[in-house]
Amino acid sequence: MKKGWLIVFEGIDGAGKSTQVERLAGFLRGQGRVVQTTREPTAGQYGAKIRQLSGEGAPLSLEEELALFVEDRREHVRDLIEPALARGEVVLSDRYYLSNVAYQGARGLEPGAILARNEALFPAPTAAILLEASAQEGLGRVLARGGELNRAYEQEDFLVRVAEIYAELDLPYLIRVPATGSPEQVHAGILRALDPWLSQD
Ligand code: ADP
Ligand code: MG
Repeated sequence: MKKGWLIVFEGIDGAGKSTQVERLAGFLRGQGRVVQTTREPTAGQYGAKIRQLSGEGAPLSLEEELALFVEDRREHVRDLIEPALARGEVVLSDRYYLSNVAYQGARGLEPGAILARNEALFPAPTAAILLEASAQEGLGRVLARGGELNRAYEQEDFLVRVAEIYAELDLPYLIRVPATGSPEQVHAGILRALDPWLSQD
């Protein structure tokens, strides 16, 4: 049986994560792989709470908010990610724990502590694809897609800090791919970056 892969997509809002998850899923299915696409926060009870609270200008403390993300991820890993990996499938997740490192880090928690807590609880991804875009590029795309800016999470100065924390990460599974260029060019960059795995079998 093929070995399962957990490939996660990271980057600021508007970097192109959702777009590239779909493209990579299509490519891998074309190669005969069974692919599950998923996202965090999930649609489960904790994920729904995170979305609801983020629309309300966050009455939670940073620690309480991070605890909700961890509970959401616990369910996600237990109910979807680990079973799929055990079946030898590919899981593509739109965000995973590095999003907490970057976003909750930008809000004031210690990025290294957030990372350590997650690494202790959850499987490391096979690869984390960091789509690198500036805050301005990301926001430009969010606005172009007709979205309203989320008050807490999509302000430019905040996203500049998020992008800085992402830029400083140094992890063996982290792959940086420039998010500028057309969706086709970014997809091609992702395939090149994943070549060590794609050419395995
Ligand atoms: P994210 O999931 O990272 O927030 P999306 O994939 O939703 O980003 O992309 C944000 C917006 O930008 C969408 O409207 C999408 O169609 C568009 N978009 C995605 N990738 C590109 C690209 N390479 N060039 C231009 N626009 C893009
Ligand atoms: Mg998205």
